[in-house]
Amino acid sequence: MAKIFCIANQKGGVGKTTTTVNLAASLAQINQRVLLVDLDPQGNATMGSGVNKSKLSATIYQVLLGLSDVKTVRQRAACETYDVLPANRELAGAEVEMVELENRENRLRLALAEVVGEYDFILIDCPPALSMLTLNGLCAAHGVIIPMQCEYYALEGLSDLANTIKKVHLNLNRELEIIGLLRVMFDPRMTLSQQVSDQLEQHFGDKVFKTLIPRNVRLAEAPSYGMPGVIFDPTSKGALAYLAFAAEMVERIKQLSK
Ligand code: ADP
Ligand code: MG
Repeated sequence: MAKIFCIANQKGGVGKTTTTVNLAASLAQINQRVLLVDLDPQGNATMGSGVNKSKLSATIYQVLLGLSDVKTVRQRAACETYDVLPANRELAGAEVEMVELENRENRLRLALAEVVGEYDFILIDCPPALSMLTLNGLCAAHGVIIPMQCEYYALEGLSDLANTIKKVHLNLNRELEIIGLLRVMFDPRMTLSQQVSDQLEQHFGDKVFKTLIPRNVRLAEAPSYGMPGVIFDPTSKGALAYLAFAAEMVERIKQLSK
């Protein structure tokens, strides 16, 4: 049965999609069967996996509205090592249209039930909002991975996210927990980066992943080639960091399930 994780942070541009795509490819490299779920109408994880979002006859939108199913809509990533449940702009409409439906916060969970036996990991790339789409992600998941930039405003908004996760845990999904905070776009030459990173460790202890993802231009270049950074340039610092993070994730999951 797949372990299902949301990569969430209601801020935009904090490295959610980069983390989801690279973690998917890194887990695949260590022989894990992975489905990446793109839950963001921007479709960046879809494009970053080499799936053309404008040429799709069906996307996660149809799945959420019950017009199609995961097995029909999923695609193989261009690198051919993991699967993608793609998204495009159409998904923005689901936000409003789902309000009318019964079980509206559980649409994704119910849809994924069909394929949980086929994967080891399902990774959900959330949109930058605490919206009905994100709520669907949180209701479907066992845990949340929160990417954070080590900058002055990093902690701002974290309490809103933590409160939302707590509420979902209490009212909708008892399995949900924060798996960990991932420090991304880390720049060791910046004193501030180091300070914020230290503060996160002090505040959140073991909830902070040991692996630090550095700021690395190869990770930023990779999406325009429709590839995760770990495939585009496997020996780059960014790629090596995500590979190390995947190993740390697998280890952490083993500890949690003991
Ligand atoms: P989000 O999904 O949270 O909006 P993205 O993953 O799209 O964030 O990242 C925002 C921008 O930062 C993108 O242009 C991405 O390529 C770049 N980026 C993300 N992580 C890194 C990194 N470790 N080093 C350099 N650039 C990065
Ligand atoms: Mg994104």
